[in-house]
Amino acid sequence: MELRDLPSVDELARVSSDPLAVAAARSVIDRAREQIRAGRDPGDLGAAFASELASARRPAFRRVLNATGVIVHTNLGRAPLAAAALDRIAETARGYSNLEYDLAAGERGSRQDHVAGIFGRLTDAESAIVVNNNAGAMLLALAALAEGREVLVSRGELIEIGDGFRIPDVLARSGATLVEVGTTNRTRAADYEQSARPETALVLRVHQSNFRVVGFTELPPLEEVVAAARAHDIPLLDDLGSGALLDVFDEPTVRASLAAGADLVCFSGDKLLGGPQAGIVAGRADLVEKLRRHPLHRALRIDKLSLAALEGTLQLYLDPARAMREIPVLRMMHADAASVRARAARLAAATGGEVEETVSRVGGGALPLAELPSFACAIEESLAGPLRAHDPPVVGIVRDGRLLLDCRTLADDELDEVAAAVSEARCH
Ligand SMILES: *Cc1c(COP(=O)(O)O)cnc(C)c1O
Repeated sequence: MELRDLPSVDELARVSSDPLAVAAARSVIDRAREQIRAGRDPGDLGAAFASELASARRPAFRRVLNATGVIVHTNLGRAPLAAAALDRIAETARGYSNLEYDLAAGERGSRQDHVAGIFGRLTDAESAIVVNNNAGAMLLALAALAEGREVLVSRGELIEIGDGFRIPDVLARSGATLVEVGTTNRTRAADYEQSARPETALVLRVHQSNFRVVGFTELPPLEEVVAAARAHDIPLLDDLGSGALLDVFDEPTVRASLAAGADLVCFSGDKLLGGPQAGIVAGRADLVEKLRRHPLHRALRIDKLSLAALEGTLQLYLDPARAMREIPVLRMMHADAASVRARAARLAAATGGEVEETVSRVGGGALPLAELPSFACAIEESLAGPLRAHDPPVVGIVRDGRLLLDCRTLADDELDEVAAAVSEARCH
């Protein structure tokens, strides 16, 4: 092809008034011009135009097939939702809802009223409030309970969660003053007692989500910190991070933390709970009420889609066996290795790959040391890029010169899609 053979933008876009089509035609022709100048064949311009236009029309934010084996993958959207939760979103968001309307009284209500009751049933919490995420929950709790006063935190718990989110920074933004107690590796209940003063507003415990200190270490059991805080009449907030509602491995549960005497606990909705992005603060009603009335509550409030999904997820927990079956995060965590291996074998047979033993992770800052035995389908490393460019994209893990598609985070009904993506990626 010569430069003079190139079609005009209008010819390629078929005299379209669609600005996306015109832009796609222009970029295909520009690229072809450079290729011709470089002495290369620009290929089928019609096909290039069709694929350019298709990708311009495709949403930027879309579904991805997670073959990384990391169950709560923050970059891939954390917890996939249960079908029941999705149904609640569709039903309440399609039309109007009683989001902030008290149907019995016929007057204004609070969006917080919809889930406070079910949290009470699931955790024995007196009251609860739900905001946008757990970082927001912490900020709100610290601002409402400790602004202008002091908060005691163990040096071993002044952590960075990820993406630069650091506990001391959030604390500073809340207007409270951090008082460090103990040392990085060892903190005792007596350290809290020694630092308690009339200016102390709160004791904050933070779950060491994404790391562990090993060796010469000491962290007092929650009961001892509670006793120290109570001796000085200081409330205790326990940031559980993930916040399990059921016993999963050795993660602390919300119920256990409240039973041990925490006045408030806060945790995420989209980590081990397996629901939508949300931050929940549960515990003493008088303290929760202070959070509700604080001006930051309005800025951090949960939106109605998340609230619907959260209630749909919590309802599944009323029957723990059903929660284990239907909440994807719990189902993937508890899937036995044999069923994961069977999926890997199916995928290997469909793609000509090999079954490879590997380990999955819970992710999301929960259980950093827990390794879940898993199986992957191993294929050639060169497919990693083409699979990410596929629609839907497939994201795996590159290891030792091969691409591993971990089957713990792939559902049965996603295997055919992955196999089709692999064969298309090999054609390019
Ligand atoms: C993840 C985490 C947070 C932040 O939760 P988001 O819901 O991501 O805002 C806060 N504290 C701890 C201990 C965590 O693990």
